[in-house]
Formats: sequence, C-alpha cells, structure tokens
Amino acid sequence: MTEAGNKDESFSDRLKNVEARIHAACKRAGRARDDVNLVAVSKGHGPERIREAANAGIIFLGESKVQEARAKIPESPGHLRWHLVGHLQTNKVKFAVHLFEAIHSVDSLKLLNAVNQGAEVAGVTMQLFLEVNVSGEVSKFGLTPEQVPELLEASTRLMHVDLVGLMTIPPFTEDPEKARPHFQRLRALRDQWRADTGIPLDELSMGMSHDLEVAIEEGATWVRVGTDLFGTR
Ligand SMILES: *Cc1c(COP(=O)(O)O)cnc(C)c1O
Repeated sequence: MTEAGNKDESFSDRLKNVEARIHAACKRAGRARDDVNLVAVSKGHGPERIREAANAGIIFLGESKVQEARAKIPESPGHLRWHLVGHLQTNKVKFAVHLFEAIHSVDSLKLLNAVNQGAEVAGVTMQLFLEVNVSGEVSKFGLTPEQVPELLEASTRLMHVDLVGLMTIPPFTEDPEKARPHFQRLRALRDQWRADTGIPLDELSMGMSHDLEVAIEEGATWVRVGTDLFGTR
C-alpha cells in the first residue's frame, strides 16, 4: 500500500496515489472528497521538497517542531497554510502564533491559555484541536478523556482561539485495522462532548500515511500525511 521506499517517484506521483486512496475511502464511507482535508507533513524535508508540494497543488503543510518551522516557512511559498501537528512547549507559543494558522496538538490547559494570550498579542485567531490520548498509552502526549471537559469549558471564555475539534494518534501497529477502535472512540467522545457543551467540534484530525483510509471511514476531516507524500525521512 505505501510506496515510501521508492525514491524515484515524484511528489506529484505520490500525491496521485494518496489522492486515490482518499477518494476510495470517501466513496466507501459515503462521504464527499471535500469533507477531508489533507495536511502534507513536511518535517525532515527542506524548502525544495516543499516547493514541489506547492507546485503539485498542496495548500496545507504540517510541521511537528517550531524550531524547524521557523527555519523553513520564511523560505517557502507564501500562500501555503501551516499547521503545527507536534507537541508545543509554552515557551515557543510566541513563535507558533506567527507561523501557524492551526495547532493540532493542544494537550494542557496551560498551553491553551498560553496560545490564547499569544494569539491576542499577535492579533490573530488560532484554530485549535485538542489532542486526546484515547488509547491510554503512557508514552504519548495528549489529554486523557477525563481532562478534556475542563479545557472545553475554558475555551468558551477565550477570545483569540477557535476550538475546532479533536486530534488523536493511535499506537503504531502494522495492521491499520487495529487503529479503527481508537478512531471510533475519538468520534464517540466528540459526539458526547458536543452534546454536553454545544461546542460543534466539527473537525477530527486523525489518520496518517498507513491508516488514513480507516480514519476517513471513521469520520476524519483532516488526515496528516508525511511519509507517503515526501518519502522516508
Ligand atoms: C510525522 C507526523 C505525521 C505524519 O506521519 P507519516 O506516518 O509520515 O504519514 C502525522 N502526524 C503527526 C503528529 C506527526 O508527527
């Protein structure tokens, strides 16, 4: 399924392949292709590869580290829209609010408040996803489901962030089917929190190179794809 090993393939060949997979998954799930946004995760790849991605029609780029993004974004085409998908330390928020339009990885109340404050100073509104650790795996960032209601509550009083949805990273397994219960759980939690709070939480950021089909079948509105677009890091 993944063609990451093939170094001769161009970005646009890889994109065609990923697009075909997204289309097929949308079709199986009875969803419109437009319901699913693709973030091309460019971590580990330089400005030249990012230009290839832009030339192939990619709009949303993802980075996992602020430091790396600070070096690359100024060298990249100006129309690209950048999403932070990796863990953010509060001391980097002041940079992140200028670099990114969205953060997929908000994992504490402290960070939520810091981003709101940073966004106010920068004069922007940040789109935020709460990262939820639905599997209970210890080594991961992310909020436990029990921690989430407090952040939902707080977000209603924060004027410089727009809490658009939830994100999760399931434990890695060879078999993408094993990720399905985690994606189902995130969606069920979303439905419950939406009913409890009235916050729409329309966006579900879930699915990466190897499990994007399963994620789309379970309701993903953002898939974050690195390896299968850019090749191995
Ligand atoms: C690296 C990364 C991705 C992309 O992963 P691939 O398996 O290379 O597609 C997606 N989301 C996050 C949070 C990442 O750090």
